[in-house]
Amino acid sequence: MEPRYGNLIGGREDFDGEAHLLKSPADGREVATVTFATGGKVNEAVDSAYDALRQWKRSTLAERQALLSRLSERIQSRSESYAFLESANTGKTLRQSTLMDIPLGIENIRYFATTKEFQLEREIEHPEYPGTRGIVQYAPMGVVASIAPWNVPFLMAVWKLAPALLAGNTVVLKPSHYTPLTALELGRDAAAAGFPPGVVNVVTGTGGVVGNALIRHPKVNLVSFTGSTKTGRELLAGSAGIKKFTLELGGKSPNIVFADADLETAARGVLFGIYLNSGQLCESGSRLILQASIREKFLSRLGELMETMRPGNPLDMETDVSAITTERQREKIETMVDAGVTAGAKVRYRKEVSGVAPPGGLYYPPTLLTDVRDDMEIAREEIFGPVLSVMQFENEPEAVELANRTDYGLAAGVWTTDLEKAKRVASQIDAGTVWVNEYHMLSAAAPRGGFKNSGIGRELGLEGLLECTQTRHIFMNPEHSDMSDVAYGLILPGAE
Ligand code: NAD
Repeated sequence: MEPRYGNLIGGREDFDGEAHLLKSPADGREVATVTFATGGKVNEAVDSAYDALRQWKRSTLAERQALLSRLSERIQSRSESYAFLESANTGKTLRQSTLMDIPLGIENIRYFATTKEFQLEREIEHPEYPGTRGIVQYAPMGVVASIAPWNVPFLMAVWKLAPALLAGNTVVLKPSHYTPLTALELGRDAAAAGFPPGVVNVVTGTGGVVGNALIRHPKVNLVSFTGSTKTGRELLAGSAGIKKFTLELGGKSPNIVFADADLETAARGVLFGIYLNSGQLCESGSRLILQASIREKFLSRLGELMETMRPGNPLDMETDVSAITTERQREKIETMVDAGVTAGAKVRYRKEVSGVAPPGGLYYPPTLLTDVRDDMEIAREEIFGPVLSVMQFENEPEAVELANRTDYGLAAGVWTTDLEKAKRVASQIDAGTVWVNEYHMLSAAAPRGGFKNSGIGRELGLEGLLECTQTRHIFMNPEHSDMSDVAYGLILPGAE
């Protein structure tokens, strides 16, 4: 029988709620049953996070880091089962889970378990008031409600938990109801690693019930949301109370290839940029912006390389093509591409998967489109699937202009052997991450997030940690003199 998961509330696993069966998008097999939380269970989770905060915010950085370190070791010892579960639940290739998502997530926890970048306070001087001292403290925000999407569930759970916990917050994490399994495993391992009850809570269910109850809860101080721009907008419009929001939203990221690039590396990088996870990554390089002089040569090479991609069951280590995680998403990709083709876009290459991928799974063939015009929806909106649109440019300013011609601003790639040019171009792109001769490389030391409609705030890095804090300024006057008197010649009431 498939395993059963409850909600993790106040250090207990709670099976009270509607059972929901999850089937694998890789092959349709039953994977696990989860328990959808009710609004009442969400309240219990927030209350337990709120109660746990009193002690947890007094813990030292060293104590928090020791627990994060123990958590990373526990996950490391079970990394193969995490990888299998992640792939079975999402349909992403086992190779990606085994070699990228799970080890990177473990590394990212280790980063927060060992970083010395973040300190709880720093000293300042006040140039206006010589002789005084200031202390700026980075206090936790309080209870953090973390809401995550379905595409990289383990990494997302790590990014939502590790920095928030290190900064002294307690967390209620809501993974996507499609892919909650590795987040639930992570929550179980957090309890086993010794995090006190209530510090880490994981509740599953839909956005309409669980997400909505979280963003409206008066004891939630920070909503850390990752998901679509559409939902991000709705959240801001519908939130109640005074609370902080960080939003990590969608993208339509450009990959710019100059004629002087190492073309073989660039071709492989462009395919990796769009077809990893079947294009279901927020930063997927979905727009290829190609210098006109190399257009035909480069496209032919892309076509040849696409032919070598191996479809099959994503749960086999040899398979290159991930499934599409939900039926709704598969239909959305199909509808958008069909509309684009009707409007004049041309399918230049398509790697067929049917007949090779498991019949019970959800798939869309990796596709490359040319003749994409700006007025088409596929040029402007996030498809979130294995679909690459090609555009071309003549010179550097035109490349920058095309790259920025979008309402999104999450990520970009620049491929050239001229590193001066690379930095010049990268510095003009309105995006939170720009890779040069690389794609998809994520470091926990680096802040990530979006410009424009791709979001507000940052995740990871020192900047991401600071998002989980609020500052307290302590103004100290060591002389015990009356500074108001010295500064302004005022006598305070009661002063001699
Ligand atoms: P989504 O916006 O539909 O859902 C995201 C999360 O929000 C889910 O947990 C969902 O249950 C919840 N939710 C939905 N409606 C809600 C509501 N009214 N109130 C509270 N919570 C609600 O996104 P998705 O389809 O799960 O994920 C795909 C999207 O996520 C893409 O747009 C992708 O670009 C984006 N994404 C962004 C990043 C990033 O770091 N910027 C990373 C991964 C994915």
